Amino acid sequence: MSERYERSIVWLRRDLRLADNVALFEAARASKSICLAFVLDPSLLRGDRVGAPIVQSFFGALCALRADLRARASDLALLEGDCARELGALAGRIGAQALFYNEDYEPDAIARDARVTRALRAGSIDVYASLDHVYFGAGDVTQPNGNPYAVFTPYKKRWLDRHASGPKLPVPSARAIEGTLLGRPAVGATLEVPAPEAYGHAQSERNPHANEATARALLDRFLRAGGGVDRYAERRDLPALRATSYLSPQLRAGTIGIRTCVERAFAALGKRDRAARNDVETWIAELIWRDFYHTVLRMWPHVAAQPFLDAARGIAWRSSEHDFRVWCAGRTGYPIVDAAMHQINTYGWMHNRLRMIVASFLTKDLLIDWRKGERYFEQHLADGDMAANNGGWQWAASTGTDAAPYFRIFNPVLQSKKFDAQGTFIRAMLPELRRVPDKYVHAPWEMPPIVAAAARCEIGKDYPAPIVDHARARARALEAFAVLATGARRANPH
Ligand code: FAD
Repeated sequence: MSERYERSIVWLRRDLRLADNVALFEAARASKSICLAFVLDPSLLRGDRVGAPIVQSFFGALCALRADLRARASDLALLEGDCARELGALAGRIGAQALFYNEDYEPDAIARDARVTRALRAGSIDVYASLDHVYFGAGDVTQPNGNPYAVFTPYKKRWLDRHASGPKLPVPSARAIEGTLLGRPAVGATLEVPAPEAYGHAQSERNPHANEATARALLDRFLRAGGGVDRYAERRDLPALRATSYLSPQLRAGTIGIRTCVERAFAALGKRDRAARNDVETWIAELIWRDFYHTVLRMWPHVAAQPFLDAARGIAWRSSEHDFRVWCAGRTGYPIVDAAMHQINTYGWMHNRLRMIVASFLTKDLLIDWRKGERYFEQHLADGDMAANNGGWQWAASTGTDAAPYFRIFNPVLQSKKFDAQGTFIRAMLPELRRVPDKYVHAPWEMPPIVAAAARCEIGKDYPAPIVDHARARARALEAFAVLATGARRANPH
């Protein structure tokens, strides 16, 4: 960048960190001084696409970021209201000539960013957008003919080829920007970080906390020798273990950069012997899934509201509010489903295997539209992210890219036996099943009355009877999903 600005604004959104932040780095390179700003958007914060865990996570990350900036004699300009108006006014107050931000692929964010860009440029402020939230952007990993991939395996192969052959993306450190941070008096008086209650969200100590220090510690602990990554391939599907990185809320709030995760993972790969490499590679594949789903959202934005597969528009979903509420409350009578819903409702996070199980149960066993489950997840997850969430739900519902074939319907009892064999997770989440013997903990309705009495778990009283019979529900789902059997047409990229 040839320009040299006296003063610039870095508009933070899903990138609440100082290290490995591309827009911040670009702004620092092009400007004598920079001011970091975040705009609280009340309509978003009070809207139905966010819930308490993610608001709490973001507000916690904002507090930590502000503390970090104050320790460096700077500050965060925290604003509230319409983004274009607030940023324009801030630019006027501090005399900024340019605005830098990192792209976001969500359709609403794209529209908002275009509006802000137009408004600021109309006020003679230069605006620059950078690619930061994914390792490779939507146009970077394509088929030889330039079209995007709608299937993960070839996408992953191409992603890995690009990573191996291209120059490694830089991971700029926080130190790179230190000399340019605008002093606190110049930033001026700005808002205090509000409590989530100000927007109607109750806080809970159990929700994940996002900030740069926690994110770094999680990554360090996960990747060190003997850390979670070392048996990841074998243990990642077991919800009773702490076997995954727990980085998703951090990646969502951007308290850690994706380049940091990717490059640290490849460095860890280099230090493992052949046998252990598979574990690290499996984890890297998850980070690639993340890029993949962001690319899908960018290239086929209709997925935000519609199935990826056109034919899936013909699925006749049931509209039972009662059954949906039972699923939300974790009262389906299927312990693995209920334990999983207890986890999301209590901790603002859910294990990946369980996300697949409850999504399959809602969309196949209960035949309820995936969009209802997707929305519930958004409202209850600290990592609720449109791209990954939509991708996960459409996969489970067999309506998306790379979708599970429509006839693959998880059997919740078999899933439970396989991934929570001793019922350890179930019992940790559902105390009413604590005394139920292993043999029955996956299907407690099969307990003979004498066993139920000894376990102090009467079905229908202490724990619900199953909401559906899986075999019958499966037959019903196969009928409803038959519209996909006739050849699912795929939408063209936009
Ligand atoms: P790890 O196993 O340590 O993986 C590392 C990182 O890779 C994760 O933090 C995440 O950023 C990424 N990742 C892992 N799996 C996936 C995946 N399948 N798709 C995309 N990225 C992935 N993830 C979200 O971040 N936000 C969501 O809203 C979300 N909703 C989901 C809904 C459904 C129905 C399903 C099946 C999956 C969803 N996922 C979502 C993906 C996945 O469940 C979580 O990313 C993962 O459980 C987070 O735990 P972790 O950080 O310990 O993961």
